[in-house]
Parts: sequence; structure tokens; C-alpha cells
Amino acid sequence: THFGYRDVPLDEKQTLVNDVFHSVAGRYDLMNDLMSGGMHRLWKDVMITTLNPPRDDTPFRLLDVAGGTGDISFRAAKASGAGFHSTVCDINTDMLEVGRQRAVERNLDDKVDFVEGNAESLQFDDRSFDAYTIAFGIRNVPRIDLALKEAYRVLKPGSRFLCLEFSSVDVPGLSKLYDLFSFKVIPEIGRVVTGDADSYQYLVESIRKFPKPYDFAEMMRDAGFARANWQVMSGGIVALHSGWRL
Ligand code: SAM
Repeated sequence: THFGYRDVPLDEKQTLVNDVFHSVAGRYDLMNDLMSGGMHRLWKDVMITTLNPPRDDTPFRLLDVAGGTGDISFRAAKASGAGFHSTVCDINTDMLEVGRQRAVERNLDDKVDFVEGNAESLQFDDRSFDAYTIAFGIRNVPRIDLALKEAYRVLKPGSRFLCLEFSSVDVPGLSKLYDLFSFKVIPEIGRVVTGDADSYQYLVESIRKFPKPYDFAEMMRDAGFARANWQVMSGGIVALHSGWRL
């Protein structure tokens, strides 16, 4: 069955998303490498460099929403000092469970916690984090405006919001190649590795549907963020958005 998810009501969209990540959790990290040709590592490194967590023992609390198996948090933990702590918050318990195991394997289980939660209604207190990251997660959230409001609410004044997300390729040659890759190669890799091409078809569609950087920056401003801007990487395949709660 092929689903056109544009027509799916918001609550059902979340169910669809949950099914996708339930089915791929165990192989999620492998899939990331296969589908991005390893490039997700470089993009995530840029996010961590931009986040620039303190290297000394200054306390720094990161909230890593839609943090899945913990990639962003582990990278941030490695780049930071003794005062660092991250909370990975994700709606999917299967992804979180894989993350918890990885944290133990990496000896980072004292630095990184995994909690179940929804980006649209976070369980954390107002003004409680020094930074908020969301990587390849926000396009899965049905009501992005709510997620942005919640991000603003839980950040301390003077702290930063960073969002890494697929964007739109507008380099002529690259965009043809990218279309071919998205609509043919990605669902095929998905089918071979997880037996589930539909999930990946969904992912490709969700990327196409996500707002353009200029429009996303406007949504960030609507949620209260100042200095909303972005940088594109790899010819527009991804964009890193930044904003501040002042
Ligand atoms: N940030 C990780 C990374 O970069 O490797 C994981 C990204 S993964 C593509 C997207 C994650 O978003 C999934 O783990 C999924 O469960 C999570 N997610 C989807 N909807 C969510 C929601 N409403 N609230 C929190 N997490 C959500």
C-alpha cells in the first residue's frame, strides 16, 4: 500500500510516524549511514560546533528533542566538559531503548538521560535548559508551531534553539539527482534493510512537505525567537536553523 500522507489528519500522522520509527529503531543508525552516504555525520558535527557547549565544568543542560537513539547528545557530550548534561526526549520508546543501550556502551549514561515525551507538550519546567536541539525531528511533528512554542518556553533567556532538518535542493544538476535518490534509492534501501519501503516513502514525502528555510525562520519568529537565521549545507540538502530566546 502506498499512502499519500499529505491527506492524513494530524493525530493519524503522529501514529504513522510512530510506526515508522518503531519498525526501524534497531536499524536506525545503520539506515542513517546508508541513506546519507555517511553525510549525516558531517551535518551533525556542524550542529555541535555551532552549539559550542562549554569545555570546562560550567553547568550546561541540553534538551535534545526527537533525539531518538541519542546521536546528537553523544556528540555534544564528547565535545563538552564536566558540567554537561543532556536529556534526550523522544515520543518513541523503541528508539529511546536503543539509545539507552548505546549510552551504556559509550560510558555516557551518566551524561545523557532518555525520557519519553512529545515535542508538542514538553513535561519540563519553564526556563530550564541552556540549549534545545532537534535534528531531523521537527518535520515529523504534526503541529510544528506548538513544538516551537514549547522549545521557547523551556529555554532559559539567553539560550539557543538549533534545528537541523532536510531542506530543498535548488542546485539544478543536483536537484535531479536528489529526486532520483529520494524517490527510487531511499525506498529501495528501506525495503532491503527493513523490509518496509512505505516507511521510507513517507520520510521522503515529509521532507518535500517541510517549509522552506525562509518560512521556517518566520515560524521561529512567531514563536518568539530572535535572530532567526539558517545556513544550508550540501547544496541545500539540509539546513541548520538557529534562534535565540532573549
Ligand atoms: N535526532 C536523532 C538523529 O538525528 O539521529 C533522531 C532523528 S529521527 C529521524 C526522528 C525522531 O523523531 C524519531 O525518533 C521519532 O520518534 C521522533 N518524533 C517523532 N514525532 C515526535 C514528537 N511529536 N515528539 C518527540 N519526538 C518525536
